[in-house]
Amino acid sequence: MPIVAVIPEPNSRVELREVRAPELENNSALLEVELSEVCGTDVHLQRGRLAGVPYPLVPGHVSVGRLQKIRGELFDVDGKPFREGDRVTFLDVHRTCNACWYCLVAKASTRCPQRKVYGITYGLDDGLCGGWATHIYLKPGTRCIRLEAAPETFMAGGCALPTSLHAIERADVRIGDTVLVLGSGPVGVNAIVMARLRGALRVLCIGAPEARLDAAKQAGATETLNIETHDESERLTWVQEQTGGRGADVTIEATGAPEAVAQAMRFTRDAGNVVVVGQYTDHGETSFNPHLDLNKKHLAVRGCWGSDFSHFYRSALLAAAKPELWAGMRLDAYELKAANEALAAVAEGRVLKAIIRP
Ligand SMILES: [Zn+2]
Ligand SMILES: [Zn+2]
Repeated sequence: MPIVAVIPEPNSRVELREVRAPELENNSALLEVELSEVCGTDVHLQRGRLAGVPYPLVPGHVSVGRLQKIRGELFDVDGKPFREGDRVTFLDVHRTCNACWYCLVAKASTRCPQRKVYGITYGLDDGLCGGWATHIYLKPGTRCIRLEAAPETFMAGGCALPTSLHAIERADVRIGDTVLVLGSGPVGVNAIVMARLRGALRVLCIGAPEARLDAAKQAGATETLNIETHDESERLTWVQEQTGGRGADVTIEATGAPEAVAQAMRFTRDAGNVVVVGQYTDHGETSFNPHLDLNKKHLAVRGCWGSDFSHFYRSALLAAAKPELWAGMRLDAYELKAANEALAAVAEGRVLKAIIRP
């Protein structure tokens, strides 16, 4: 019988449950989970801070495992069939419709209203749909990707890898740019990796604590500043000192703190680009001066929501081809029964990247 770690309702502890093995529909599969991730989103889920989430919920949206049982046929994007025993990951977003206005006209499938996300908007009532479990039910239409990378390397990036890949592309980083990353959590550190790959000559990072800033340096940050010991004006001075007085060409906000969005605008040079990717949940409002911080600066400010198959697919390729890029990302693994400890460690920022190893 599969075992799941479930959040019964908001603000309650995770508990283990035994559940019945699913009946496989045609062209579906049962995945035996090797690793699943614990990220900031799961902390928000446990605290009931994300809208549209059904409880009870089994968290874990990015996972790696082996196809234990396939019913019917399952193909990769090259049309090659998957076999039982193959190691795969899968896009956590399911049922993107490719028929609605957002999918077809705006070409922004991450805003498709039909989309469902394993471990976030699929609850336990929808089946075995979260990675904090011995098994996941891969419903028909789930997009699997053959994983050539070591599972630990891919999970060191985790969901932060496609998220940051999307953010860096949306930021239009140019060869030779100086990129400023606000935040040194998984998205911030992965954004540093992606910025360097995209051609940034220098990447500055403002974050905390020191252990995460060390990881930022290993990921390719040229300079770091501890946010805990420098106030906003000191941070601004530091960025200006690093950039000939102008500010960063591109700033990626990956903090979760609303005030960081206004700071991202102030720390960026005139006519530069800002991408906001760290405001995945509603932490409230912030204020800025529309004349000084935006219009007069001729800034381009963009939000970045989620990731699509293309981001996920290329992330899996990258992790296989360049594992050394994630060598400095320390993974802390927890068993299913230690899910509460894993959540606490992530919430308190004690670990850089926590994973569940069922
Ligand atoms: Zn759609
Ligand atoms: Zn995540």
